Amino acid sequence: MKIIMLGAPGAGKGTQAKMIADKCGIPHISTGDIFRANIKNGTELGAKAKEYMDKGLLVPDELTCGLVVDRIQAEDCKDGYILDGFPRTIPQAEALEEALNKIGQRVDFAINIDVPDENIISRMSGRRACTSCGATYHVVFNPPKKEGICDDCGAELVLRDDDKPETVKNRLRVYHDQTQPLIDFYSARDVLRTVDGTQSMEKVFDDILKVLGA
Ligand code: ADP
Ligand code: ADP
Ligand code: ZN
Repeated sequence: MKIIMLGAPGAGKGTQAKMIADKCGIPHISTGDIFRANIKNGTELGAKAKEYMDKGLLVPDELTCGLVVDRIQAEDCKDGYILDGFPRTIPQAEALEEALNKIGQRVDFAINIDVPDENIISRMSGRRACTSCGATYHVVFNPPKKEGICDDCGAELVLRDDDKPETVKNRLRVYHDQTQPLIDFYSARDVLRTVDGTQSMEKVFDDILKVLGA
C-alpha cells in the first residue's frame, strides 16, 4: 500500500505515519527527517536544506524530488510505504506520479489530517523531537515517560528551531500557498481521504485505519 500524509505542519502526520508504519509493516519515509539527518551528518545537502528550513521555507524541488524517487525504489519499499511531508508542492506530486506511472503504479491513499491554524501554534510550541530517532512528543498531549528523554531510544528531546512561533507562522503561510493545492490534486484522482485531526491521537488513528480498511 502506498500512502501519502497531507496536512499542515503540526497536524500529526509524523505521529500517525509512525503508527501506520508499525501496524502495516511498511517503511515511514519523512523528508523532514531525511533533511535533519543530513544536517546532523554535515552533508552538502544538509547545508543547503538548512538555509530554507531555518526560515520556514520549502527546500527547492530540485533537491527534494530525486531523493524521494530514489528512496521509494529501495528493496524495503516493494510492498509499499508511507510518505510523510512529501509531496509538498504540485511539481513534487507530478514528479512522484511520473515515477510511479513508469512502473505502472499509483498512490493508493492521500490521507489529509485536518487541523485548523488556531490549534497549530500550541501543537508546535509543545512539540519535543528526539535528536536521534525522530520520534516526537508533546509536553501536554503526549509527554515522554521521563522529561526531556526519548522513550524509544533514550536520546535527548529538543524544541526544534523551526517550531518557534515566528517560524511556524511562515510555515503555515507556505503550507496554504504551496501544499494545500495538493488536496484538489489528489481529490481529482479519487484517493483523498480527510480525517478530523483535532481528535485524540488514538481516535485519529482509528479513523485512518478505517479508511485503509486495515
Ligand atoms: P512538519 O512535520 O512539522 O511539517 P517536517 O519535518 O516535515 O515538518 O519538515 C521540516 C522542514 O523541512 C519544512 O519546513 C521544509 O523546510 C523541509 N521539508 C520537508 N519536506 C519537504 C518537502 N517535501 N519539500 C520541501 N521542503 C521540505
Ligand atoms: P507533523 O508531522 O504533521 O508536523 P507531529 O506528528 O509531529 O506533526 O505532531 C505535532 C505535535 O502535536 C507533536 O508534539 C505531537 O505529539 C502532537 N500531536 C500529534 N497528534 C496530536 C493529537 N491528535 N492531539 C494532540 N496533539 C497531537
Ligand atoms: Zn529517540
